[in-house]
Amino acid sequence: MKKLFLIIGAPGSGKTTDASLIAEKHPEQLVHYSTGDMLRAEVKSGSELGKEIESYISRGALVPLNIIVDTIVSAINHAPVPNVLIDGYPRSVEQMEAFDTIVADEKEIDLTAVIEVRVSEAVARERILGRAAEAAPGEGRSDDNEAVFNDRMTIYTEPLEAIQNFYTDKGLLHVIDGERTLEEVVADMDTFVLSKIQ
Ligand code: AMP
Repeated sequence: MKKLFLIIGAPGSGKTTDASLIAEKHPEQLVHYSTGDMLRAEVKSGSELGKEIESYISRGALVPLNIIVDTIVSAINHAPVPNVLIDGYPRSVEQMEAFDTIVADEKEIDLTAVIEVRVSEAVARERILGRAAEAAPGEGRSDDNEAVFNDRMTIYTEPLEAIQNFYTDKGLLHVIDGERTLEEVVADMDTFVLSKIQ
């Protein structure tokens, strides 16, 4: 049985950095996967699937449901340790409902909590556009620019309330204030996750 934590947050919320630092602290207990990183790895491989994925990522659009569901289910099944953090899922009501069906059928996955790293749009914008300005030429992400940021933010915000309500009703939603220092956010998330697995 694997305990699963889903981590959601706006672009620039810091969710990927937070989760990877926590997993690094407890390598025997926790592993972390970021949906964005897994998709970008497929793009980098140069496969046909990667080319299809890049056509969505570069526009800030969501990749199709079957691609993202296969990506996360395969990550969970191959996880080498019993507790898994996945950030960047769900990002739509459709994804949430699809995963609910999978969790109901799949006795090996225990959805333990959904953590929302909450930041205002202004903070998210400042962080993402700052990240774009700091990237070396050719090294930045194809989706870190203002026009694509706006689309990513809209896509994040539109289903958010439905996602929050769904997991609140199940007693699974845990909100973390992401506007503090990285150390504070990580310490908070770390304490919460450990309280659920020990
Ligand atoms: P991120 O690194 O989390 O900002 O994600 C970068 C991009 O990867 C997103 O803008 C989407 O194009 C794609 N992506 C990441 N997670 C998902 C998801 N759950 N569903 C669909 N597309 C996703």
